[in-house]
Amino acid sequence: MLPFRLVYHEGYDLNFGPHVFPSEKYRLVRDRLLAQGIAGPEDFLEPEPASDRDLLLVHETDWVERLKNGTLSFEDIRRLEAPYSRQMVRAFWLAAGGTTLAAQCALLHGIGVNIGGGFHHAFPDHGEGFCAIHDVAVAIRGLQKDGAIRRAMVVDCDVHHGNGTAAIFAGDQSVFTISIHQANNYPALKPPSTIDIHLPDGVGDEAYLGKLAGPVQAALAGFRPDLLMYIAGADPYHRDQLGGLSLTVEGLETRDRTVMELALRQQVPVAVTLAGGYAMDLHDTVTIHANTARAARDALTEVRWRGPRCAPAG
Ligand SMILES: [Zn+2]
Repeated sequence: MLPFRLVYHEGYDLNFGPHVFPSEKYRLVRDRLLAQGIAGPEDFLEPEPASDRDLLLVHETDWVERLKNGTLSFEDIRRLEAPYSRQMVRAFWLAAGGTTLAAQCALLHGIGVNIGGGFHHAFPDHGEGFCAIHDVAVAIRGLQKDGAIRRAMVVDCDVHHGNGTAAIFAGDQSVFTISIHQANNYPALKPPSTIDIHLPDGVGDEAYLGKLAGPVQAALAGFRPDLLMYIAGADPYHRDQLGGLSLTVEGLETRDRTVMELALRQQVPVAVTLAGGYAMDLHDTVTIHANTARAARDALTEVRWRGPRCAPAG
């Protein structure tokens, strides 16, 4: 039995206070996983904050300095749509360190799950939509720089388009980006991913899964990434306040298992991040995120993972 590794830190709480983004959700998901026996205390690893070296592989020095020094402009705060605090800044640094650690676990054991991260609206020079630091891009660029991977694929199933991801990796042949999202939703400007699946309002489980599986499978076979970064997203849920799709709790777990099993069957390791979730009842968001971790554990049990490759594929 391969180790099932989850990454979590108490400092993940973004300290947003009363806000549509329930920044205490990470602790609630961790507690739920322990209470339900999906993971034990020994399965959790605690990350270090990402290094400035890794952040600067993605972000501009000026943006990193403004975050660290607390010198965000009114326009910075308006685009971020979240209140500034030191705790928030530390949480983004920890999330980036956590996604990197989850990816390192994935390269060793097949799957690594960050109970956090997925901040796909962050750009090199500014934050947007509750995302200040693009943890997934930081992890990819850091692992590439260290020679742990050459090619990565991002599969983004958050209900909102992965605009930051698309902008950061535009023209980068080493990173293949897929975003499946509601067309008629934030962000208004959607820079092109390698593959964008723009969905009409109200799409349900069956239609959603029908549109997702084929392109992911074909992209995995054609691009042969060394690592898949899965941005799960709980907000395609039919009772989400910021989403307009109609997936059920069960449909979302099927989605999670589908993506992870497709990758593992092709011996591509998967690092998972949680991303958004704004259900009317916070309990539902926690359930959907906890189910993502359960789906990861089940996928690892279901599919024979042959272990780490000696060197990244050429
Ligand atoms: Zn979202």
